Amino acid sequence: MRLPTPKAPAALEEMGPWLVGSLLHPLTLRRKMDSLLNGHRYAKAAVDIAAHDLLGKAYGVRVADLLGGAVTDRVPSYYASGVGEPDDIARIAAEKMAEGYPRMQVKIGGRPVEVDIETLRKVWEVIRGSGMRLAADGNRSLPTRDALRLSRECPDIPFTMEQPCDTIEELAAIRASVHHGIYLDENGEDLATVIRVAGQGLVDGFGMKVTRIGGLQQMAAFRDICEARCLPHTCDDAWGGDIIAAACTHIGATVSPRLNEGVWLAAPYIEGNYDRTGVNIVDGHIRLPDGPGLGVVPDEGRFGKPLLSFG
Ligand SMILES: [Mg+2]
Repeated sequence: MRLPTPKAPAALEEMGPWLVGSLLHPLTLRRKMDSLLNGHRYAKAAVDIAAHDLLGKAYGVRVADLLGGAVTDRVPSYYASGVGEPDDIARIAAEKMAEGYPRMQVKIGGRPVEVDIETLRKVWEVIRGSGMRLAADGNRSLPTRDALRLSRECPDIPFTMEQPCDTIEELAAIRASVHHGIYLDENGEDLATVIRVAGQGLVDGFGMKVTRIGGLQQMAAFRDICEARCLPHTCDDAWGGDIIAAACTHIGATVSPRLNEGVWLAAPYIEGNYDRTGVNIVDGHIRLPDGPGLGVVPDEGRFGKPLLSFG
């Protein structure tokens, strides 16, 4: 089997030589990157996050302060289960509620919708009255038929439906018929899409990944657009290490508390740290790393040999 060529190094190789000597200011840097290459926001995010870290260190402030100011140093996280048996997911929900997670996201889809409905019912029996919020994340997998049934048969359970269907058109088609808030995740690829769906009232919130939107500069703009339309959202890691975990935590610390659906980190699933202490979830929350910059100090010896170098 041929493995796909990793795209991020290719995109960085394309932009790298033209970025040497660029100013670190995230806005001008983002414009420069966009002038060099369309799309590839996940690769631009790496440069953007590094620039925020360096700028914070140069100014002696935390990245959260560069992004507008932290409103908390204890950032809420949320727990995401896999697709599982109803009793197993209900047991996990009980554990995570006891640990202090303010929100539980249950993955659904890829099986008879009756099992998803049973799962959500059993989880709700466990967390009802606790204040823990509930999301049902379809990861784009539900036919509109199943999304409609899920909502119709659970009118008493106040979960949000995160990206139940594959496309924005499908979400628009079911929008008026569902009883639950709809969040956009995978289709929220850029600010133009965010503005479109928010402006048309197609969604009630977002799951957002810092790398998908293009880094912290774009994420701060996304945060402000959401606040202008009173739309809750997450600030998620995309299966990375301590650097992206710290970046997500810093932007997450700046989100208005009433709109903050939490910061999801891959840290509990990843062995080892690049940083001495790492960025970790304790009692369902993440302590904002002390600055300056991202507040993590990676042991560069653990990265291995550089893939690319410029200058
Ligand atoms: Mg999701």
